[in-house]
Amino acid sequence: MPQSHRPHPPNSSASSRLLTRVLRPTPLKPALLLTEVLLAGMLLLTLVAPLQAETQWDATTIQTNLRRTVATLSTDIGERNADAPLNYLRAAAFISDQLALWGVPLESLRLITDPPSPPVIVATFGPEPSPAAHNPAPLTKPGQPTPSASEQPASSTPDTAPHLLLCAHYDTVPGSPGANDNASGVAVLLELARLLADAPPPVRLQIALFPNEEEPHFMTPASGSVRYAEQLAMRSALPLRVIAVDSMGWTGKDAGWRAFMNFSKGNLTVGARPESRPLADNLTQTLSRITDTAAVVTRDGAFWIDKSDHAPFVARGCQGVLLTAPGTLAYPCLHLGCDTPEKLDYKTMEMTVHGLLEFIAQQPSPPPHRDHTETLIDSGDKQGA
Ligand SMILES: [Zn+2]
Repeated sequence: MPQSHRPHPPNSSASSRLLTRVLRPTPLKPALLLTEVLLAGMLLLTLVAPLQAETQWDATTIQTNLRRTVATLSTDIGERNADAPLNYLRAAAFISDQLALWGVPLESLRLITDPPSPPVIVATFGPEPSPAAHNPAPLTKPGQPTPSASEQPASSTPDTAPHLLLCAHYDTVPGSPGANDNASGVAVLLELARLLADAPPPVRLQIALFPNEEEPHFMTPASGSVRYAEQLAMRSALPLRVIAVDSMGWTGKDAGWRAFMNFSKGNLTVGARPESRPLADNLTQTLSRITDTAAVVTRDGAFWIDKSDHAPFVARGCQGVLLTAPGTLAYPCLHLGCDTPEKLDYKTMEMTVHGLLEFIAQQPSPPPHRDHTETLIDSGDKQGA
């Protein structure tokens, strides 16, 4: 695919806005002594120049990193599944090593033992849970009776739960190096993790890389995302919102397929069921602005919108969407040996990283306590609320 090596002028200001918000200091209390205000002002003045210099959006570096990750997973390592167990373990090790390199708090969870599979890899960002989160007061809506323990929604301790979970699978179907499906999604999330390590998000956030998304494991107990959703539900720590990033790199231009799939002319597509429409609309709005593409919510119930790692979380009451490239299902190399790195559009992937960063920066500040509980209570009687 032809690539542009030009910088992205429209993105620079958006990036600055994002990082300004992320780095915004806590408001000063009125009682603060004047001298302290002056000292703080002087300190800020010394910091402003270097921070601004470091927060410019470096499209070239990000595209280079995305290319390297895709090449490592799909060319150097190759297919990643039970048919190629060594490759599968190498892929997991590569992902963990990258995250560790950036100093990201990391869990490597061996949740699938039958048959044994590489781990679910989870990186956590943002504010620590409050001490009270381990023993939360019952949450009710005004005027409602206090629910008994058995009536509490599974995710009733959102202080410990991530506000947002971004996930991608790192396995492939047998015989495919899986550059688009899904080294592309892993690359986008690893790059996001690198940037978040330097500028922590305003909300608690997790990035999860899952094994066993592809058939025959999809939505079975041997799937990484199914097991992780189950584990979070048991810990009453399900996320409020989930974004699965899957097959980002082949944007395709087949007009017939686009019409058939109800896709727009954009380079990104957000797929969601009606109950996740608030998240889908919110994400689509941000991505459309940042990426200069026409991301859309597809028609409700389209068959492909459940086909990724957000599905087990949606089944448990979380809002969840699939973020993908609209050409994915028309990709001539879908699940084949020719799904190789040179087919991908790294500029779109880089803009996706930028759009997701902006989306993260826009998330409401903690605590998400009331929001989460009320969303779960309301789901079913309020469509699109
Ligand atoms: Zn996939």
